[in-house]
Formats: sequence, structure tokens, C-alpha cells
Amino acid sequence: MSAIRNVCVYCGSSAGSDARFGDAAEALGRALAAEGVGLVYGGGGDGLMGRLARATLAAGGHVTGVIPSFLIRKEHALTAAHEMIVVGDMHERKQTMFDRADAFIALPGGVGTLEELVEQMTWAQLDRHAKPILIVNIGGFWRPLLALLAHMHIEGFIREGFDLRYLVAERIEDALPMLRAAAERRMADRGPQDAVSPRNM
Ligand code: AMP
Repeated sequence: MSAIRNVCVYCGSSAGSDARFGDAAEALGRALAAEGVGLVYGGGGDGLMGRLARATLAAGGHVTGVIPSFLIRKEHALTAAHEMIVVGDMHERKQTMFDRADAFIALPGGVGTLEELVEQMTWAQLDRHAKPILIVNIGGFWRPLLALLAHMHIEGFIREGFDLRYLVAERIEDALPMLRAAAERRMADRGPQDAVSPRNM
């Protein structure tokens, strides 16, 4: 059985200004459904989040949303999701999404997406988990973040080897194969058990 059964996707609650972002979100939803990989996401119905989840559902995939009660109305929680886990706050949301997922994907988004992605990267840096993290650089969207990370490395704030903690794909088609390959490498290197839960950091 594949080591990647559920993928947590972080992406914008807005649609963004480039049509390629929405197309990519829908293509990822279809790919997840086709591969029998469950989607775990923030539960919203708007923007890229909504397009991703609806495309997953339309293609017969499984969708789990995780949303704090105070955002149910504001982010138009997707009633069609198979499971909508209502949590108390943002911290619980991120922990629940982490617990439910075997890997993480970041599509284009705003500060919420950035915060969620960077948190996973920091947890990985501290060896709190070894779940694969993939940045999908649609239309070069994440280039400024990748440049900032390179700058931090050059300036001595990011240690050698940090770039091994995350993957970068340019196309949606590459996303699931890259996550699978990373998970298989990890199992070969470390055995099947995952690292410590970040709950106990
Ligand atoms: P955005 O990329 O800003 O459109 O946000 C994408 C998603 O991230 C939305 O569902 C936000 O509610 C969520 N989000 C924003 N800030 C945080 C945070 N600090 N922790 C967890 N989720 C967040």
C-alpha cells in the first residue's frame, strides 16, 4: 500500500489573479481523486480552497475539511465534504490537519497559506516530523519565497541541508509522484514509523 493515503493541501481562500492558479487547484483535486488519495484541507468553500475541494469531490475523491467554528460562515465551509471537523481555534486546526495527513502540498495563497507551509517547514527542520512537504510553483508564484530561503542560507541563518526538507514541483502532474518517491525514500532510510508528533514540541 502507498505510504501516501491523505495529503494536506494549503492554498488561498482567494482565487488569485492568475487563471493558472485555479486550474492547478482543480487539476490537483482530480489527481488526488484518480489516485485514491484523500484530501485534507481547511474546509473553506471560497477561492482556490473551494475549487480544489469541489474538483476532488466531482472526480469521486474523498474530502476532509478542518475548520474552526468561528470561520464556518466566514470561509463558507463546504457542506458537501465527506467529513468536516470543527475545531476550537487555528492551532487545533493545524494540528488536526497535520495528524490526518501523510504529506503536505502548498499551492499559491496568501499569508494563511504561507504561515501553514512555513510551520511545516520549521517542524521538519526541528525533526518533529519527516512527512514530505511539496511547494507547487505554479507560474513561478513561490519564486520570491524560494529566493528568500536561498538568501537566508547565504546569510548564515539556514543550515546546510535545509533544502532537503522540502520539494519543489513546477507542474501538478509531478506532485503525487514526487511525494510518493519521497515517502518511499524516507521509509527505506528510517523505517515505517513517523517522527515525533509536533504536539509534544
Ligand atoms: P490565505 O492563504 O490567507 O487565503 O488563507 C488560507 C487558509 O489559511 C484560510 O483557510 C485561513 O483561514 C487559513 N489561515 C490563516 N491564518 C492561519 C493560521 N495562523 N493558522 C492556520 N490557518 C490559517
